[in-house]
Amino acid sequence: MNRPTIPLLDVVQENAPLREELLEALTRVVDSGRFLHGEDVRALEGEIAQVAGARHAVSCASGSDALLLSLMALGIGPGDEVIVPSFTFFATASCVARLGARIVFADIDPTTFQIDPASVARLLGPRTRAVIPVHLFGRPAPVDELQRLIGERSIAVIEDAAQSIGAVHGGRPVGGIGAVGCFSFYPTKNLGGMGDGGMLTTSDESLAERLRLLAAHGMKPRYYHSVVGINSRLDSFQAAVLRVKLHHLASWNEARRERAQRYLAWFAEAGAGESIVLPHADAPGDLSVWNQFTIRVPGGRRDALKAHLAEQGIGSEVYYPVPLHCQECFRDADVVVPALPATEAAAGEVLSLPVSPCLTESDQRRVVDAVVEFDRGAASRPAATGGFRGRRAG
Ligand SMILES: *Cc1c(COP(=O)(O)O)cnc(C)c1O
Repeated sequence: MNRPTIPLLDVVQENAPLREELLEALTRVVDSGRFLHGEDVRALEGEIAQVAGARHAVSCASGSDALLLSLMALGIGPGDEVIVPSFTFFATASCVARLGARIVFADIDPTTFQIDPASVARLLGPRTRAVIPVHLFGRPAPVDELQRLIGERSIAVIEDAAQSIGAVHGGRPVGGIGAVGCFSFYPTKNLGGMGDGGMLTTSDESLAERLRLLAAHGMKPRYYHSVVGINSRLDSFQAAVLRVKLHHLASWNEARRERAQRYLAWFAEAGAGESIVLPHADAPGDLSVWNQFTIRVPGGRRDALKAHLAEQGIGSEVYYPVPLHCQECFRDADVVVPALPATEAAAGEVLSLPVSPCLTESDQRRVVDAVVEFDRGAASRPAATGGFRGRRAG
């Protein structure tokens, strides 16, 4: 293969135009000696609060910690139930298990991959304390509908916005709609640092205070601990990098949207659809930021398409191959596992294609041609028997 490869994502290429600016920002931190609690950390908190449309933001060490701290701040523990989708990254559910609460797995809407409010409605009970909708793949989850469903009950909606900074739901930025928003700055997210980092957003001042306390060993004042917290800090180097990159977030998200629109248009022109299912356009009032462009390949042919793309030097990835309710660690855990047909089908059929801001038009044409070529051949190939066949927990 002599044509250059098209990676799913290339963080070196993404950061290259900002190299000088990044080095300057990092140098300022080196010279300040304030490697923790630096100026950039406080400034970034203010800036992310604005992006999320929330009054407060509290930084922490990762998106996973943000989720854990949210549940800790709400006092969730043994005897409590938290509803989470099974089709998501592990951290959405592990925070519940770590606090000794019960994980209740909800199914997804097969057309959007987002948590299905109808499934949540069936799972709400007297012990439900929180629901964690995930804005998966950069697309908004139906948070408004979940909140309508919850009504006056004291059940907190914690938004897992790790993949979706800048996305909009019902005219409002994600992360600022529920009680708490959780963001991740893992390098592959739409706003990625050069290491780990996370942020919590809320408009509830006492909740913000509690989150800050819990992220700092429950210590206030110094060496006096009123509660048992954890040590979860965003360091000044990450904050400095993230502030440089934040200036470009809106244009990068726009570039992702452009590429997603182009895929939809070009696949439609090519008459794709014999064997692949394209993502839906945004609902009115919603805006996706396309952390992933995820298609479905039914009929057990997903892995064949992935291999076909790899042969042509095109990167693609399966997010996620094994739903959380089938993970070994939850086999004997305190979990509720109803029938999750849409989740299990998605795990066997999804494939994410390159959609990064660095993807050129000609590279994108190659991706489309390669998928369409596979699509055309699909009709003449016998159905494979691949797909997800996991073992259920519980
Ligand atoms: C990345 C991610 C997390 C965890 O973020 P980290 O910063 O890697 O800990 C949580 N939830 C979802 C949906 C994610 O994609």
